[in-house]
Amino acid sequence: MAAARKAKVFDPFERREIKKLVAEFGSPLLIVDCERIRRQYRQLRRALPRVDLHYALKPLPHPAVVSTIVEEGGFLDLATTGEVELVARLGVDGERCIHTHPIKRDADIRAAVARGVRVFVADNPDELRKFVPYGDRVEVLLRVSYRSPGAVSDLSRKFGCDPEQLLPLARRAHDLGITVRGLSFHVGSQAPDPGKHVEAIESCRRLLAAAAREKLGPCDTLDIGGGFPIDYSQRAPEIGYFCAPIRAALAELPKRVRVIAEPGRYIAGPAAIGVASVMGRARRENRWWYYLDDGLYGSFSGQLFDHAHYPLESLRNRGKREPSVLAGPTCDSIDVIAENLTLPQLEVGDLIVGRAMGAYTWASASEFNFFPRATVVSVNQKPGDRGTVLKVEY
Ligand SMILES: *Cc1c(COP(=O)(O)O)cnc(C)c1O
Repeated sequence: MAAARKAKVFDPFERREIKKLVAEFGSPLLIVDCERIRRQYRQLRRALPRVDLHYALKPLPHPAVVSTIVEEGGFLDLATTGEVELVARLGVDGERCIHTHPIKRDADIRAAVARGVRVFVADNPDELRKFVPYGDRVEVLLRVSYRSPGAVSDLSRKFGCDPEQLLPLARRAHDLGITVRGLSFHVGSQAPDPGKHVEAIESCRRLLAAAAREKLGPCDTLDIGGGFPIDYSQRAPEIGYFCAPIRAALAELPKRVRVIAEPGRYIAGPAAIGVASVMGRARRENRWWYYLDDGLYGSFSGQLFDHAHYPLESLRNRGKREPSVLAGPTCDSIDVIAENLTLPQLEVGDLIVGRAMGAYTWASASEFNFFPRATVVSVNQKPGDRGTVLKVEY
């Protein structure tokens, strides 16, 4: 009985547990809760039934997240040889993975094929030619571009062919003897509404039908990418509600079409918090400036690259609140996390917590000024797992 109670899932995002984890693993810390990874995965499964979810490693390429997704029966979306090697070290079958970087070196294709990856993405004729030496060991998804100037990051600008170029590209693949498995798109991350997904699905339905009519390949897979939004300081629509129009659009596809998606942020974002400590403080122009051991060059890099605003709080919550500034540790003047906060007076060693910091945070952190990146501690990967630190090799 006592053992069973001990093995229960615990909530590492509670104040008391955060303090314990920092006491054990140090600061700055990124706490990844695998129970929340599972919860996010299951919620998206419910919102998109019959869609196979390939977790995109890019936002948080961490072994604990990968293993948790695979244990849930999920699939993976890889984009680099480093990611291919990471999942291979975890013993994940290449058949569970797709490789979705539209631009690759031959060495990248070779490494992925050697690990059993079969499905790749291409969006132009030069890239298609790179697959010729691999013959029937590879299949491609042709990536189509649907611009979304509304998205925080419009990924259809950098990658994807115009819908009008799709059939000529599919004919080219066919002539080169490359199997066209289907189509893919990625409307951009943190989509404000499902309109772009719906538009892209409807367009791809017509393109898949046209390619199948010309017998340009099996054309029986549609990859609807990622972009599913989460709450930051600004709330996002509930995921079931967000996906309702997407479900309706997918219902119009012929039964033979298998649908897959590549969620990254939705799985990883809410599943981690960032914890930083106050290194020192100064009173400047009637405000308290608190200097933390993590900042814009570290886990808060997402504020710059990903335009995210993480909900911030101090674990000390007693005392009169005063105008305060949170700054990062480096000597660079842009390294300021938040101004215009009101916080109780903090002391050296006090902890600041950033919520929803799993995606595009630690992944894009640097060690500028030799301030080390946050330690990543995962919990709840297995019952009773109260903290595991794994080095990410790539
Ligand atoms: C980054 C990326 C994703 C993940 O996108 P999210 O918005 O984080 O879900 C999926 N697919 C591709 C091709 C990507 O580049």
